[in-house]
Amino acid sequence: MSIQFKSITELRAMLDDKLISPLELVQESHHLADKFKELNCFITMDEDLSKKKARTIDLGKENNSFLLGIPLAQKDLFCTQDLRTTCASKILSNFIPPYTATAVEKLEDSGSITIGKTNMDEFAMGSSNETSYFGNVHNPWKKGYVPGGSSGGSAAAVAAGIVPAATGTDTGGSIRQPAAHCGITGLKPTYGRISRWGMIAFASSLDQAGPLARTAEDCAVILSSMSGHDPKDTTSLNVEVPDFLSKLNYPIKGLKIGIIKEFDLSDLDKEVQTRFEESKKVYEKLGAEFVDVSLPNISASVPTYYSIAPAECSSNLSRFDGVRFGHRAENTDDLNDLYIKSRSEGFGDEVKRRILIGTYALSAGYYDAYYKKAQQVRRLIKNDFDLVFESVDILMTPTSPSTAFEFGSKGAQNPVELYLEDLFTISSNLAGLPAMSIPHGQVNSLPVGLQLIGNFLREDQLLNAAHIFQQNTDFHLAKPSMEDFK
Ligand code: GLN
Repeated sequence: MSIQFKSITELRAMLDDKLISPLELVQESHHLADKFKELNCFITMDEDLSKKKARTIDLGKENNSFLLGIPLAQKDLFCTQDLRTTCASKILSNFIPPYTATAVEKLEDSGSITIGKTNMDEFAMGSSNETSYFGNVHNPWKKGYVPGGSSGGSAAAVAAGIVPAATGTDTGGSIRQPAAHCGITGLKPTYGRISRWGMIAFASSLDQAGPLARTAEDCAVILSSMSGHDPKDTTSLNVEVPDFLSKLNYPIKGLKIGIIKEFDLSDLDKEVQTRFEESKKVYEKLGAEFVDVSLPNISASVPTYYSIAPAECSSNLSRFDGVRFGHRAENTDDLNDLYIKSRSEGFGDEVKRRILIGTYALSAGYYDAYYKKAQQVRRLIKNDFDLVFESVDILMTPTSPSTAFEFGSKGAQNPVELYLEDLFTISSNLAGLPAMSIPHGQVNSLPVGLQLIGNFLREDQLLNAAHIFQQNTDFHLAKPSMEDFK
């Protein structure tokens, strides 16, 4: 029986009804990964261990977890004990971590089975999955088109129906944007909701892990499992973790949805605008009310992010020096030469660009002008959100200004072109707020995403709004034909 394109909820029912065993399910996932190898969505598979774990699963016990026996894929920046973790970089291409990231450990403790590690932009820097040392990932909807980034491998693996869900991380949009381009559902939780321990850091004050799945319902299941206080991460929030699944299905009559005035949608593709208007109508019909709101500083989000994120990355990535981890250059003259050559050979161009920008922004003389200024603007953006959430429940924007594009068509001459892909997603990272992308139709046979932004720790409200939308539309059920990849 085919498991391709099945959601977690559907696979749970198949397992419970004994239509398939955990071992068969894992084998089938591996089979699909192999069949669609050309997508290049995995860097490393974990065939032996995943099958071994599947054999030990006892479905007969009472109170089994919802995730018991469910195959999942993990973005390759979550450390996994004894399983290669590369961050899609040459510098870590042989790194085998001695421990597992808390977020993955929690998922595995819930009984899910990791089948492999997914491809991504190198160190999660990118919006198109074109900066990986292991090559581009194809969009399952169209060969030669980007899946979005940086969690492009996770998004493609879910969209192709290889696994029902996968983990991603989102620093400026890397869960939501690939979810939008691949026609699936993705959630970036509140900063601090999920432990960052064991997640290879890009920009520590912005990075947050989260799920990519077929439905909001499945995102709720994964979120509950991944969340929770972790003493090993000082930014992890010590708050109660709700059972998010039980928070769905509340009527949304009277829900106040804000539309951000400062985002001028008339510049976007006409069809993208139409999809947005149509989705507003869906919500209106369900009783939601739309309110125009103003976030006066939001237009500074992209430059603010591109000062803070590189600054933090230049500091975080200084640990990769060819001594403690990963790639070490040969034939070096002295220690300094070893550092220089190992890093020059080990990092790709985009990572080097960010390290240079970040080091510059943090250097004496420029610190006040760039880094400090960016932090001040970040506070203003956060204050704008705080004010707006006094009068609305959620905010709604497109996830991305365009649909997926052809390899090499954006950012080759000017990287800023790619940075602008994050126009709608970055501000919620700067403010630490939860945000989701849900599919809401297609333009030229490629999926488009709708973004919902929620108030601090209100993932319940966000997931409910997304779930109700999915109960009343069937955009999330659309699947790629996969004909290009047979
Ligand atoms: N596209 C953004 C960047 O390149 C965001 C990446 C992310 O969220 N990891 O920095």
